Amino acid sequence: MFAWIEMNGLSVGTVPALAAAAPRLRVLFSPRGGGVSAGPFASLNLGGAVGDSPRAVAENRRRFLSAIGADPRRIARCAQVHGARIAAASRGGVYERADGLVTAERDLGLVIGTADCFPVILHSPSEMVCAALHAGRSGAAAGILERGIALLLGRFRADPHNLIAVCGPGICGRCYEVGRDEAMKFPAWARRRSAGRWHIDLPLFIRRTVLAAGVREANWFDAGLCTSCSADRCFSHRRDGGRTGRHWTVATMTGGRSAAGRGR
Ligand SMILES: [Zn+2]
Repeated sequence: MFAWIEMNGLSVGTVPALAAAAPRLRVLFSPRGGGVSAGPFASLNLGGAVGDSPRAVAENRRRFLSAIGADPRRIARCAQVHGARIAAASRGGVYERADGLVTAERDLGLVIGTADCFPVILHSPSEMVCAALHAGRSGAAAGILERGIALLLGRFRADPHNLIAVCGPGICGRCYEVGRDEAMKFPAWARRRSAGRWHIDLPLFIRRTVLAAGVREANWFDAGLCTSCSADRCFSHRRDGGRTGRHWTVATMTGGRSAAGRGR
């Protein structure tokens, strides 16, 4: 389950149960409030390509990273083009043409920006490897979840028994109405038709896909928070008619050897 905790004056989302299962993994979700953006982006919009003032976005990012104690130079983002490519991240910056990042680096924050799509974090505590995936309708249907898990189990030789998966906030099945063609890209158990309207249950699709790919049910951590249902706390692309802000989910493996060794 999900909880909002106070971090240096900002209300930050987290999944408390994760602490016991993966003590070196920190997954934090930015709130909607506490920033300087106005209008549809009010107020802590972290998305840079949504029509908000670049100065406001820069200040919002500064506030959020400062509140969670993250070094802005140790933040890795991907361009998020609704694909299924996962880039290897070794340092901070923006990785182009990718919707996922994987790293074995400590104290490197992997960021996924969303406002209805799901951030999905994979982590192996024994091999100390972490992946952050942008799992929206397109990326999920294109197989980014299976790719991410295959990458950790294959290239990084993670033990499937220990593999942790975290699903952040995103749009629930009741709120996510789509056209028939989009619905048909998903298996029958993940789509539903009522009163002539099609809906996709993306969180259910993600959960089943991740478990089918080898993650144990005991290692599945679901925020269970719908961005569309939570108007006071969350931006929602659907609910807000496409003009809205973006949240950041930051996944970090803590415990770097030496801060000085990184030139900070
Ligand atoms: Zn909902």
